[in-house]
Amino acid sequence: MRTDILGVGFDDLTLEEAAAAGARLVEEPGFHYAVTPNPEFLLAAKSNPEFRQALLDAHLVLADGVGVAYAAKILGRPLKGRVPGIDFAQRLLSWMSHNGKRLFLLGAKPGVAELAAANLRDSHPGLLICGTHDGYFQEDGPVVEEIRASGADVVFVCLGAPKQEFWMAQHGPDTGAHLMVGLGGSLDVFAGVVERAPAGFQRLGLEWLYRLIKQPSRIGRMAKLPLVLWDAAVARMGGK
Ligand code: UDP
Repeated sequence: MRTDILGVGFDDLTLEEAAAAGARLVEEPGFHYAVTPNPEFLLAAKSNPEFRQALLDAHLVLADGVGVAYAAKILGRPLKGRVPGIDFAQRLLSWMSHNGKRLFLLGAKPGVAELAAANLRDSHPGLLICGTHDGYFQEDGPVVEEIRASGADVVFVCLGAPKQEFWMAQHGPDTGAHLMVGLGGSLDVFAGVVERAPAGFQRLGLEWLYRLIKQPSRIGRMAKLPLVLWDAAVARMGGK
């Protein structure tokens, strides 16, 4: 049973439980995909039914960030915790490096995925990165074919939302991969192109504030957080 937060069902899992669920999906036959919605996703899903459906159809829906956790609390359906996509990815990376699984990195500007691959190989000895591709391609077919030929078990899809969710839902089954994870700007972080907030900010759930101070141009995107909390309060008062 998923926890409904403003029309999107979330899997109520701790980080450890989410990582175990991800690993199970890699082992299961067939194709699966995981999404990591934040408040921006919830607002976009409100006015974009196809995007909402792509979130609902995912096999794992993780609450990325403190905004979704707050909204859940306001709605009276608190989640066990938040599962930042990048932390989920880190857990999965450790598991993959110990279990001989093959990883493909898709997304970000040209050169970034290769840089991320080099850093991840250093930090996770034994990790098998079987391919990379930037996120600014015109045709999907050759990218699908490249992933298929690489024999990837897992693909990190970092094209930004909603592009990455549509891409996973539409093309994932043709790639032969068992799990795709939509991870936004994570390749930029793995590559060291964008710095992640220091641990203190992460612990306090203030990563968004750190990003805002570092990249003030994100203010328009971040302003969506209070809107989601407002929606949650209205829904709660309306008895939803
Ligand atoms: N991106 C991409 N292809 C596109 C548009 C975006 O690969 O057509 C990449 C972009 O370079 C960045 C990531 O997608 O690495 C999106 O980052 P954003 O900061 O929007 O994601 P967030 O982490 O905030 O969800």
